[in-house]
Amino acid sequence: MKVKLPDIKRGNPAYAGEADSVDCCIVGGGPAGVVLALLLVRQGVEVLLLEAQADFDRDFRGDTVHASTLHLLAQLGLLERFLDVAHAVGDDFPTHFPDGSISPRGAGRLPTAQPTYRVPQARLLELLAGEAQRYPSFRLVMGGRVEDLIKCDGVVRGVRYRAPDGMHSVAATLVVGADGRFSKVRQSAGLPLVTSDEAMDVLWLRLPRGTGDPERAAGIYLGPPGHGPMVVADRAEAWQIGYLFPKGSLARLRADGLPALRAAITARAAWLADAVEHLQNWRQTSVLMVQAGRVPRWYRPGLLLIGDAAHVMSPVAGVGINYAIQDAVVAANLLGPRLRQGRVRTVDLASVQRRRELPTRLMQLFQHAMAHRVGTSSEPLHGARWLDRGFDLPPVRAVRERLIAYGGFRPEHVRAIPAEPLRRRAGKSWAAGLVAVAVLLAIACSLAAASVAEPTSTVEPASVSAVTPVPLATPECWVSGDLVGDANPAEVRAAVCGFSVRFQPEG
Ligand SMILES: Cc1cc2nc3c(=O)[nH]c(=O)nc-3n(C[C@H](O)[C@H](O)[C@H](O)COP(=O)(O)OP(=O)(O)OC[C@H]3O[C@@H](n4cnc5c(N)ncnc54)[C@H](O)[C@@H]3O)c2cc1C
Repeated sequence: MKVKLPDIKRGNPAYAGEADSVDCCIVGGGPAGVVLALLLVRQGVEVLLLEAQADFDRDFRGDTVHASTLHLLAQLGLLERFLDVAHAVGDDFPTHFPDGSISPRGAGRLPTAQPTYRVPQARLLELLAGEAQRYPSFRLVMGGRVEDLIKCDGVVRGVRYRAPDGMHSVAATLVVGADGRFSKVRQSAGLPLVTSDEAMDVLWLRLPRGTGDPERAAGIYLGPPGHGPMVVADRAEAWQIGYLFPKGSLARLRADGLPALRAAITARAAWLADAVEHLQNWRQTSVLMVQAGRVPRWYRPGLLLIGDAAHVMSPVAGVGINYAIQDAVVAANLLGPRLRQGRVRTVDLASVQRRRELPTRLMQLFQHAMAHRVGTSSEPLHGARWLDRGFDLPPVRAVRERLIAYGGFRPEHVRAIPAEPLRRRAGKSWAAGLVAVAVLLAIACSLAAASVAEPTSTVEPASVSAVTPVPLATPECWVSGDLVGDANPAEVRAAVCGFSVRFQPEG
């Protein structure tokens, strides 16, 4: 539908004119945005999803899928298709100490928890976006980069975005910023990010598997005193290495050269000695500037932030995707019905933050403690052992496992999923129209019947006796009786409400 834009940016012709209008415009096709879009279109909400990149393929993005996301996929009937994607499975993520010892296997996870899966994030997003495409109220613009918010009297009314075919404006009942840690939406809305001081950055790279790799190869490898730890994660086809180095020392790392990096990797995990020779170019690596932070208020009138846009998660414990997705489930549950009614109140937006903020903050605290204790301790052995023991105390362990597996204290359930795609605009307005027509017809018939029984100037020139209204099923109103005088026996217009009234001679 086209709407006239309100007086956005007065005097700026680029903001004038007409715009597309949708119920919800989601900015960012990461895990948060794609899941929210799917859950809303399932409820019949009209959604425009804008993703800045031309595809979902981004290397070294979070790809750990925990129990809460599996629970969601099962609810959506997508679990089997998800498991068809090449993946690695595993919960065992031990600490490898510099003296060669390894922390014992975990004593078992929560009974309700599922194993942890690792799939390329792009495959998960393609699966979810493909499912959303089945719904007629879903529209996805790849390469659609939001440049500004449309605001009017303090309320966010839509966005301006650049697409391959030029600039566009879209008006929306609600704009959702799911555009990640550098969120443009967050900046445009003037919602400040409070960051915490992170000690380490990460250099990601992949190394091939070998036949002699140890059984419990994945995990955190602690370096010698004064050196950062290294993460080895199991990917279906390779090992993903996360080499942690003190923040601000990337230039020194590069200046030391690749031979020094290869030596540092094997100093932590000697079994990678052959594989590390595959690392021949810095282009095989990707730097993640670790950042963590949160926005004190996730919303403004007409706008909500979710996922990393609202709370930047550090990569510790690999929970970023799951927290983003749990935000999306809560937002869809609480806001979907409101969006269908065409009105979202600011208190509704606040309720999303209320439900998601505590688990997010606890998880960030846990990540921060772990990164600092392990990453900066000059006595990593002592620090990490202390941490291992502390985290293994039953109450701490219970909270930690829930936070990791569920992205909260329990997985969020998707509410009210209709079995089949809805044709919301058409379906709903058609049904409403039918009811309105039926009511109008009932009025029309009784008025028509009354007029016909006692002819007035509104029904000319018919004059009918013994009229009996017949129940209505169509927009045409049939009444039966005898026509008297010169009335057109075929059709008489009931001027009162404009419906067509035909007379059918009795017998
Ligand atoms: C390099 C890297 C490695 C990571 N590794 C891990 C890991 O190993 N484990 C883990 O759990 N987490 C990891 N994370 C974090 C994890 O990926 C995020 O927490 C998670 O993806 C958050 O999901 P999101 O949907 O909120 O945001 P994102 O996944 O960041 O998605 C945001 C999307 O918005 C799009 N976008 C941005 N700006 C605009 C705009 N102006 N207009 C339209 N679209 C826009 C982006 O292209 C992107 O697709 C990593 C993050 C990065 C950057």
